[in-house]
Amino acid sequence: LLQVFIPLGFLGIVYRQIKYALADMDLVFKLLERPPEIADRPQAKPLALDRGQVRFEQVAFHYQPERPILHGVDFTIEPGAKIAVVGPSGAGKSTLARLLFRFYDVSDGRILIDGQDIRDLTQSSLRAAIGIVPQDTVLFNDTLYYNLAYGRPDARRAEIEQAAEMAHIRTFIDGLPQGWDTVVGERGLKLSGGEKQRVAIARAILKRPRILIFDEATSSLDSHTERAIQTTLAEVAAHHTTLIIAHRLSTVVDADRILVMDQGRVIEQGTHSALLAAGGRYAAMWELQRRERRDDDDSSAMISVT
Ligand code: ADP
Ligand code: MG
Repeated sequence: LLQVFIPLGFLGIVYRQIKYALADMDLVFKLLERPPEIADRPQAKPLALDRGQVRFEQVAFHYQPERPILHGVDFTIEPGAKIAVVGPSGAGKSTLARLLFRFYDVSDGRILIDGQDIRDLTQSSLRAAIGIVPQDTVLFNDTLYYNLAYGRPDARRAEIEQAAEMAHIRTFIDGLPQGWDTVVGERGLKLSGGEKQRVAIARAILKRPRILIFDEATSSLDSHTERAIQTTLAEVAAHHTTLIIAHRLSTVVDADRILVMDQGRVIEQGTHSALLAAGGRYAAMWELQRRERRDDDDSSAMISVT
């Protein structure tokens, strides 16, 4: 019985992989972009997850040797703490997230989770511990139900619906003619950036990982949805070790620590109030965004008057 059962189960996995490979070439290309050298070491062990402390130890990184990207990045996220990373486009913020998820290996230094170098761990155990809401979410050419349940395939329907609700995507789904059975992705209904991001947030909520990475996308959410989602994220993040890459500084005010990055280095770090008091780069960024917000408010006031 066992002999029959195992091959069939295995075929099921292969079948599903082929199905998705055929169904979602986008995803396949994304997977192919990953460097082939990221493989489990022969002695790789599963992560012994404790409280979810994350440590970057003098991390250097390059995608191509001739162009170094990160230099001596060194910080610790204490279990349950929320660290925000800010800085200009191209500073290396998303790269930090990719390294922690081990899409790439560091060129120098180490990344540790609860004291374990992530290169010594099985990738499956590492990725089970981390929920990532990336800047660009890839959806499968499959139903919305499948796309959300992907966060935890054994979740019950009620849990999936609740996660959708917390991510502010449930009303949208219920309003579609085919509802949860709507096929999305390249060959189905195309979702906006904000909708895709909310699907990713729902996945992360469902997964309830110890470590949460949120790579905020500025343009994809309108400010009303953004505020609603920030509230949700604050609730979700309260129980997790959180790395939040923020474009809008309003997101980071309550972070335990803010890292300011520029050209692959951490140039300032501290709490919001300490960084404002320091009067450096962060304070200048804050002032700039405060002015932009005021301009936004002015224009919306004008619209409501006319
Ligand atoms: P940020 O998120 O702060 O905007 P990124 O971490 O995405 O910055 O990128 C940092 C730098 O690395 C940028 O100069 C970017 O062009 C480069 N980069 C990002 N991804 C790749 C890649 N796959 N191959 C080569 N260079 C890359
Ligand atoms: Mg980025």
